[in-house]
Amino acid sequence: MAQEFFNHIDGKWLVAKSGRAFENRNPANRDDLIGLFPASDVADVDAAVTAAKKAFAIWRLVPAPKRGEILYRVGELLKKYKEELARIETREMGKVLKEARGDVQEGIDCAFLNAGEGRRLFGETTPAELPNKFAMSVRAPIGVCALITPWNFPLAIPTWKLFPALICGNTVILKPAEDTPHTASRFVEILNQAGVPPGVVNLIHGRGEEVGAALVRHKDVQLVSFTGSAAVGREIASVCGQSLKRVSLELGGKNAQIVMEDADLDLAIEGALWGAFGTTGQRCTATSRLIVHRDIAKKITDALVTRAEQIKIGDGLDESVEMGPLINQAARGKVLRYSEIGKQEGARLLTGGAIHDAGACANGYFFQPTIFAQVKPTMRIAQEEIFGPVLSIIEIESFAEAIDVLNGTAYGLSSSIYTNDVTRAFRAMRDIEAGITYINGPTIGAEVHLPFGGVKDTGNGHREAGTTVYDIFTEWKSIYVDYSGKLQKAQIDNAE
Ligand code: NAD
Repeated sequence: MAQEFFNHIDGKWLVAKSGRAFENRNPANRDDLIGLFPASDVADVDAAVTAAKKAFAIWRLVPAPKRGEILYRVGELLKKYKEELARIETREMGKVLKEARGDVQEGIDCAFLNAGEGRRLFGETTPAELPNKFAMSVRAPIGVCALITPWNFPLAIPTWKLFPALICGNTVILKPAEDTPHTASRFVEILNQAGVPPGVVNLIHGRGEEVGAALVRHKDVQLVSFTGSAAVGREIASVCGQSLKRVSLELGGKNAQIVMEDADLDLAIEGALWGAFGTTGQRCTATSRLIVHRDIAKKITDALVTRAEQIKIGDGLDESVEMGPLINQAARGKVLRYSEIGKQEGARLLTGGAIHDAGACANGYFFQPTIFAQVKPTMRIAQEEIFGPVLSIIEIESFAEAIDVLNGTAYGLSSSIYTNDVTRAFRAMRDIEAGITYINGPTIGAEVHLPFGGVKDTGNGHREAGTTVYDIFTEWKSIYVDYSGKLQKAQIDNAE
């Protein structure tokens, strides 16, 4: 019998009103059925929004330091259940255990960061231009927030949205990706255990086109915080635009690592391997382009191919495995298609490019680490997000050309340059068009206390994490207190 999981609405665990359910299977082994989850629809969304709206009236008045105490307890519980959560994640998402533990750790870091923010949430106090008048600005919660998340960081991404939303006094409906509902369910159990009151966090499982879209359209949802593909992000933004709903979008990337001829090459090779093949290339910040100076291209390429061919592929629950499967059949089909496109475009396939189904991998969605050389910056494999273990090597002759190539895509999330020349490093920091730049580090590895997000098609200008995330989840309110006892007219009474 498959284990049954539920929606969480107003503090109760419920089946979908339609009674329908969908299966969640292990991408490393399709025979492993994790459980059945509610295939919710608009009726479940209505119930969740009603609960969140009711809870908002109370939650917004709970002092932020008290809300912070609950988040602190959440952080402690995430620490306690770290190993269990990591194993749940690996089983339903495929990333290797070491990385799944890292994902949970990011959630823990995010809990403590936001718990502390309960005692800050600073506004500004300023002088007023008129006598006997006081001026300040404060942050106010927005209301009911829909949090729509992808599968590649099943715990960290929900925490990046949910903790800031809660500390600011909002209530939420979390709609996790269909491929990773188990992590989300366990997360919500932990939130309850920590004392989050009923209705403050509601969880709705189901298809994006149905449940996600219904949340986006719902008149009582004041804010949509979305992380996912650019195509869906565009659709959501256009719906929100019609109703002037606040929407924050964290979308795709086509991240590049530059390696200049003066770089520490061994370090650059380690960085490229981790950036390209970590999480099987399924990170929004994954390195999918390696922009290499011609003088060192052969050395780097040869080393990368040798090392890529040694990567141990398999079930991420096996501690010795270095790279797990892709998330599902459609994702693997997409990566295979792009491998064919690369060959047709005239890039040289150096290794990989094929499904990996040898031995114990026969039952999962595995793919070989893939490296293309002689890639031109305009080729589709150098322009479009593949979201798999595919690295395109592009040769350049100068620093200026490297920056041009790096900037020459529609996206602008993460970026990296390996160089020992301080002038080049500072020029890169200034001239790269991206939300994140690493010097002598790979394109992956963001920390929760700095802003996270990108430019161009990677989003719509918001930044999660850090303190910038509070600009997503609050409204600014400016307050003037006039204690002069008379009508004072700004810009008029104090004019020369
Ligand atoms: P996706 O866009 O297919 O789905 C994301 C979420 O949106 C899921 O929960 C899905 O059910 C829901 N959804 C789908 N259609 C919807 C609709 N019409 N209305 C409302 N919701 C809908 O993305 P994915 O495949 O889950 O994730 C991979 C993508 O996410 C990649 O493009 C990756 O770069 C991006 N990503 C970005 C960041 C970032 O912070 N910039 C982080 C992680 C992943």
